[in-house]
Amino acid sequence: MSKDILDLAGIGIGPFNLSVAALLDQHPTVKAAFFDSKPGFDWHPGMQLPGARLQTSCLKDLVTGADPCNPHSFLNYLVQRRRFYAFLSAERTAISRREFADYLSWVASRLPSLQFGHGVESVCFEDGLFRLDFRHGSDPVYSRNLCIGTGIRPHIPPACEALAPERSLHCIHLMDRARDFSGKHVAVIGGGQSGAEVMLGLLDGLWGQPASIRWFSRRPNFEPLDETPFTNLYFSPQYVDTFQGLPEQRRRDLVHYQKLASDGISPDTLQALYQRLYEHPLEHPGRPEPELLPGRSLYAVTDNAPMSLLTRNRLDDQFEEFRADQLLLCTGFEHGLPDCLTPIKPKLRLDSTGRPHLHRAFNLDWDGPADRSIYAVNQGRFSHGIADSQLSLTSWRSAVIVNHLLGREQYPVGEDAVPVRWDSRGTRENPVIRDIPHKKAHAGIESI
Ligand SMILES: Cc1cc2nc3c(=O)[nH]c(=O)nc-3n(C[C@H](O)[C@H](O)[C@H](O)COP(=O)(O)OP(=O)(O)OC[C@H]3O[C@@H](n4cnc5c(N)ncnc54)[C@H](O)[C@@H]3O)c2cc1C
Repeated sequence: MSKDILDLAGIGIGPFNLSVAALLDQHPTVKAAFFDSKPGFDWHPGMQLPGARLQTSCLKDLVTGADPCNPHSFLNYLVQRRRFYAFLSAERTAISRREFADYLSWVASRLPSLQFGHGVESVCFEDGLFRLDFRHGSDPVYSRNLCIGTGIRPHIPPACEALAPERSLHCIHLMDRARDFSGKHVAVIGGGQSGAEVMLGLLDGLWGQPASIRWFSRRPNFEPLDETPFTNLYFSPQYVDTFQGLPEQRRRDLVHYQKLASDGISPDTLQALYQRLYEHPLEHPGRPEPELLPGRSLYAVTDNAPMSLLTRNRLDDQFEEFRADQLLLCTGFEHGLPDCLTPIKPKLRLDSTGRPHLHRAFNLDWDGPADRSIYAVNQGRFSHGIADSQLSLTSWRSAVIVNHLLGREQYPVGEDAVPVRWDSRGTRENPVIRDIPHKKAHAGIESI
């Protein structure tokens, strides 16, 4: 009996692979199926904090940037949900995370190519096809191409690795169930957007009234997301195109330098938080003031009850000790290839830090046949830039992938007109000069 062979098998159904599936839904001749271990679609349910907002425009949805007529757009969601006019009158610059999650679930409910409850256990390559085996023993699936969309893993700081997960809880699980931190000494670790949102939740008494609240951040201050126009151009196809052609060390330096373009705290959140802190002594007389402790790195934690936190102040280089009953880790996420790819990992080209090397079309560099591709979404922060782990270019990236899969320019993915020229292209008026006398003497004096 001949096996049923897919053109594309997607592993993981977060927003990024959902976008690829939404574009492919318009191409019924392409046999695609996407698999996720979860029982149904759910976008970061543990971080659906009341009032949390998307840090990205709702026009940067799953499809619009590539195919504004696609029926899986946010605007169509509003129309179908009968919320279009109410939405316009709300005049919000940013929609709520809850509404975006609802939009994503709405799209997921309309795509027949998605299969939930299908955790991929392993992937191997045999007889020119990828073979996917599932954790719960469903029949294996064969595919010519893969799209890896398994997302991110919570980052646990080394000092907390040995602690019980409930006492040192990563924020991604915070809203998974009801919690009560009443009477506890709570320490929030991590000074990014998640840390700020968790602080707001604590000040609003979302999880009872803690005995004390402390917020530790390694960063020198509680720093804002840079949402200004020229910084936003880092999230444009033109910039990504230039970025991915740069040498590895330059790309690494730029990702570090551009941190606040993607990992800062939304100015609205900072404002709300500051105002709550200002009002706290009047609204809650007699309660201890929350303590904000920037510039501290977590040096060690002892697993006593209460726990003892040793921190190093990066400003004055002093060590301090704090007691806590409950740690809330807002320490970010790690990107990496999923374990299910272990059988084919030796076939992948990795960079000096073990990350996969991605070509322009988000396909991994590997030693398999040229007509078999392994695409990867959310694996290209260091190859395609900070935009890769954000929603901004989701539809554009999916269009690049689908174009490559189809072998034609189905979607326009060329460069939009933007007022900044990043690369040195060389024009008649401004030629690129390749042979500079004394170049060596100047090397190394410029830095970013
Ligand atoms: C709380 C939060 C808020 C965010 N808000 C924004 C924002 O406002 N703007 C922005 O630009 N970005 C935001 N981001 C960043 C980014 O957009 C999201 O993390 C986004 O969910 C990434 O999508 P993804 O598809 O890569 O992965 P994920 O959403 O993590 O989905 C991955 C999926 O893969 C599945 N999976 C994993 N392994 C397997 C396997 N072996 N077999 C089958 N399935 C598997 C998982 O079950 C999961 O469903 C936010 C991130 C977080 C954590």
